Amino acid sequence: MDLSGKTAIVTGSSRGIGRAIALELGQAGASVVINYSSNDAAAEEVKKQIEDSGGAAVTIQADVTDYNQCESMIQNTIEHFGRIDILVNNAGITRDNLLARMKAEEWQDVIDTNLTGVYNCCRAALRPLLKQKSGGRIINIASVAGIHGNTGQANYAAAKGGVISFTRTLAKELGSRGITVNAVAPGFIETEMTEILSEGMKEQVISRIALGRLGKPEDVASVVLFLASSADYVTGQVIAVDGNLSM
Ligand code: NAP
Repeated sequence: MDLSGKTAIVTGSSRGIGRAIALELGQAGASVVINYSSNDAAAEEVKKQIEDSGGAAVTIQADVTDYNQCESMIQNTIEHFGRIDILVNNAGITRDNLLARMKAEEWQDVIDTNLTGVYNCCRAALRPLLKQKSGGRIINIASVAGIHGNTGQANYAAAKGGVISFTRTLAKELGSRGITVNAVAPGFIETEMTEILSEGMKEQVISRIALGRLGKPEDVASVVLFLASSADYVTGQVIAVDGNLSM
């Protein structure tokens, strides 16, 4: 899978799943924009890893909840690499609570980052993508919680369900321009986001996964690479990467 000459932006790629996606796309030859919120050191480390293996990368700090910052990130990308071909909307947060205890800011923060953040980046990237007239790939990282729901995650499941509907709609709007739009829905993946689970809870989760283990960030990254590099006739789809987890 060769992405030489292509530029990919991966939001939230200083850590976790986004980091694995940035490394995978960089390995395939893409020039990679490593976006992050505050963790400069972690983002620089991902950049160094891509450069050490012969690739090109740049770090761009931008808060995806802020449209103007997303627009600047896209402009910086074009100034740096001359074009944009692949946008992976991965940045995300959790603020888990049962609805009875969920504060308004816990609801709003998750919607702003996980749903509005995807809108902001897609909207900002659209004009240059259309101007280039060479198609493009948009890949949104949703979650199985956005398909099945999950106790304690009303905010998160609503945002991810929104990302799935947004993906299907955008696929219809952009198909005639050669831009594919797909979503990947991870199950339980071992990152800092799921580190808060106790060992007992992890065992419980694993007992519901057909493949008998939690996922690794690389499990998600390889599916993103497939959607970014092959999969020419795949759009508007949601691919679960969950080892067949029953919620
Ligand atoms: P993670 O390890 O907590 O990493 C989150 C990343 O998002 C970091 O790079 C962080 O940057 C960045 N970020 C957070 N808020 C941001 C903002 N406002 N603007 C820009 N960047 C921001 O998370 P993860 O587990 O890798 O999750 C990645 C994606 O997969 C998320 O969309 C998540 O919902 C989804 N997902 C994860 C799982 C799982 O089991 N882990 C399951 C299903 C779906 P800093 O380093 O600067 O903070």
